[in-house]
Amino acid sequence: MRNYEVEKILDVPVDILTMSDILSDVEECFKENTKLTIASVNPQIILMSEQNKAVKDFIGQSTHRIADGIGIIKVSRWTKGKVTERVAGFDTMEELLRFCNTHKKRIFLYGAKPEVVKLAGENIATTYPNLEVAGMIDGYTKLSDDKIVEQINEAQADMVFVALGSPKQEEWLKKNINLISANVFQTIGGSLDVLSGTAKRAPEIFITLNLEWLYRSISNPKRFYRIFQLPVFVLKSINWHRKQGKH
Ligand code: UDP
Repeated sequence: MRNYEVEKILDVPVDILTMSDILSDVEECFKENTKLTIASVNPQIILMSEQNKAVKDFIGQSTHRIADGIGIIKVSRWTKGKVTERVAGFDTMEELLRFCNTHKKRIFLYGAKPEVVKLAGENIATTYPNLEVAGMIDGYTKLSDDKIVEQINEAQADMVFVALGSPKQEEWLKKNINLISANVFQTIGGSLDVLSGTAKRAPEIFITLNLEWLYRSISNPKRFYRIFQLPVFVLKSINWHRKQGKH
């Protein structure tokens, strides 16, 4: 697997890579039976990792840290960095599902509400008939971590998608990833809500204008406070970058 150039934003690494880099690494990781972990990096997760060591460690240890937010691209540009392309977590998951469909792989979904993960699993099975949805566990289960890991391993999953939101999904994977025999792992936030049809992705115009985050913040009162995190993130990142230059 290639080593990518890394850019640090507020001391969190982001890899300079494209979707096709990820896909060729996924192919290689199955050939060589190694592990590949895709972690979404966005302004909210970067701010969280200042206080949460597990989140920071998980991102540090992941093989592919994707720039899953326009805030990352902007800060990189303003600090003359190299992250020029957004690699959305949702798009990455869709590409992985397509890969699984082509190569008849087995996937496991862990997270979201019981009816959401079930619907998402059904929709995925319909859209990608050649992959196997080998198992699903909702994100509010009372099962112990040991039992969850056991179910994933018994299902012989090749790819595991974890949808517990941040920081739970990062904490869970950091703790359990080495116990799971699958090859590919991705933290997918609220993607199952979209795949289930329960939540809609932002209208095309918001996506085109890179304002998906704004749409999601306005349309979900629980996310509204995130609007105010953005200027904090930008100021802190630029300040951090300036200080690095002085050493
Ligand atoms: N979630 C879960 N268990 C929990 C908390 C959240 O499975 O204990 C799920 C929730 O149902 C949703 C996803 O995690 O499907 C995270 O959604 P959110 O929009 O908060 O995360 P983001 O997309 O911002 O990472």
